[in-house]
Amino acid sequence: MIYVFIFILGICLGSFANVLIDRTQAKKSIRGRSICDFCNYVLSWLDNIPIISFLILKGQCKKCRKKLSWQYPLVELSTGFVLILTFWLVQNNLLFQTNGSSFEFYFILFYFIFISYILWVIFIWDLKYMIIPDFLVLIGLVSTFIFQIQTSLGSEYFWSFGNPLISALLGGLILGGFFGFIFYISKGKWIGGGDVKLGFWLGSIVGLQAVYFLILFSYVSGAIVAVFLILFFSKKMKSQIPFGPFLIVSAYFLMFNREVVLEVWNNLLI
Ligand SMILES: [Zn+2]
Repeated sequence: MIYVFIFILGICLGSFANVLIDRTQAKKSIRGRSICDFCNYVLSWLDNIPIISFLILKGQCKKCRKKLSWQYPLVELSTGFVLILTFWLVQNNLLFQTNGSSFEFYFILFYFIFISYILWVIFIWDLKYMIIPDFLVLIGLVSTFIFQIQTSLGSEYFWSFGNPLISALLGGLILGGFFGFIFYISKGKWIGGGDVKLGFWLGSIVGLQAVYFLILFSYVSGAIVAVFLILFFSKKMKSQIPFGPFLIVSAYFLMFNREVVLEVWNNLLI
């Protein structure tokens, strides 16, 4: 039952993401009714129910019958799945086994669902427009630090690298600093300014101990996909591929599997 609720919540948030991304990019207000991209037909609330309206209208505008973009249902459904996956991962992660305190559990759950949603919106945004919106990164960064402050309050040794807040701060500085350096020496050619800011946030999510793996995973996955695109989709070496999605997927993976990765790494060293 809770899964159905979270899925529906995800679909509605996905619907909002569609509106937010396209209207912000077009510099329009996010308030007001949706209109058809082709004939400016104003959609009634019945034409605007996520997924269901798309199916009933067979993916066409009611008035001009032009095909509606697949982006709408795709973003809605995928957001639903991202939220369910996050819920499942939080529920089944030993890291988040709380001492029976339901407040603590819901606090953790809310935090991870919230930042997963923001990460997913940035993922789509960067993929579609090659832009990482500052305001979303800022919202994410603030929530991560609020979360880490709350977590570090219970930490035994405040002034240590194991303290979540200090770990987050150093992780952010390392990744943001690394990308900032690349941005500086390449004059913005190898990496975008948006990636530098996103890097600071993502570094603070995974923390000092795992930030090196975040760099490794995002470059390796980026390289694999780039080779794949060049070989099979005849993309040119020069064509731009946004880097944000690789950073986001790697950070999401590390968010839930950090301890496993660190353990495998430590075993390799011995
Ligand atoms: Zn139309």
